[in-house]
Amino acid sequence: MTADPVAIARDLLRCRSVTPAEGGALKFLEATLKAAGFTVHRMTFREPGADDVENLYARIGTASPHLTFAGHTDVVPPGDEKAWKHPPFAGEVDGTELYGRGAIDMKGGIACAVAAVLDHLSAHGGKPQKDDKGSISFLITGDEEGIAVNGTPKLLKWAVERGEKFDHCLLGEPSNVEALGDTIKIGRRGSLNGHLIVTGKQGHVAYPERAVNPVHGIVRLIEALKAEPLDAGNENFPPSNLEFVSIDVGNKTVNLIPDEARAQFNIRFNDIHTLDSLKALLQARAEKASGGKIKFAFTWQPSNAGVFVTKPGQFTDLVVDAITQATGRKPKLSTSGGTSDARFITQYCPVVEFGLVGQTMHAIDERVPVADLQALTKIYRTIIDKYFA
Ligand SMILES: [Zn+2]
Repeated sequence: MTADPVAIARDLLRCRSVTPAEGGALKFLEATLKAAGFTVHRMTFREPGADDVENLYARIGTASPHLTFAGHTDVVPPGDEKAWKHPPFAGEVDGTELYGRGAIDMKGGIACAVAAVLDHLSAHGGKPQKDDKGSISFLITGDEEGIAVNGTPKLLKWAVERGEKFDHCLLGEPSNVEALGDTIKIGRRGSLNGHLIVTGKQGHVAYPERAVNPVHGIVRLIEALKAEPLDAGNENFPPSNLEFVSIDVGNKTVNLIPDEARAQFNIRFNDIHTLDSLKALLQARAEKASGGKIKFAFTWQPSNAGVFVTKPGQFTDLVVDAITQATGRKPKLSTSGGTSDARFITQYCPVVEFGLVGQTMHAIDERVPVADLQALTKIYRTIIDKYFA
């Protein structure tokens, strides 16, 4: 009997698992995986100031190589439920498409991975590989769409502390742009948010010689920071970019020179830099431009994310081959887009992101073609077969 990814996806979509609610989605996976012989752990992580989050770790087999499928069952809120063609938590198929919040991001991807793994196991006597070699696991969090504090980072730490060793990870986030098989994500740029604060001396506009206007200073520094590119990019990444998003003085008084000006910025950066090297570079550029005459400081937001890349090689080749075999497409190895939980997983093992086509994710009427669910299951199955061959 072959596992049906559409039925699994439908059952997951019927769980109202808006972050941080579990909604029955992990309970469903627990039952499904236990029935296939997995050892399943359900972990709830908590921390002051954040919601409690339920997570799941399931493994079959005890030996290496160990391939783990990562993902999240939480979803973003559905928005106006009446605006949906089909209710967002009904899991209804309309013609050739399955509707529901999370159909693409990423209950659909999880359903395909589960179906592919179950099929692989039943074809190999209930084991990842003959002779009890090999392990397959699922690392599923309920906190990817939220602040991601009590999800993947804690789940990985917990797993590694109890002796788990991961060899490779496939994260089923929607990676494709237009069609299934067009894009694999092998890394992500880093993201650094900060403020540049210039301090002046308040005074009357009619007596500028008695004041120091921070508006002039901040304009000079912004120009200097943007004057040279941060780098030229490399084979895996486009050039890094510094973007100022606001300049705030907050002065409503026309005859007053303000005493402070702030500018907010974001840098999306490649692996030529680290968070620390970028901070040092900005500091050095601003110091040079100020010539000791502009009083300035940088402050950094805590939510910054480092850059990572899984260098193309054996594992990415295997994934590319499986995709080409199933779809005829040769996927692009991309590092574009925002951050994902891959930034945590990469600290433990090489990770590649490949899932459904991202077009309707987070939108009203999120939906997935049934044919894509079947094709992705086939791709995952081919990856698993090749991996354990
Ligand atoms: Zn997602």
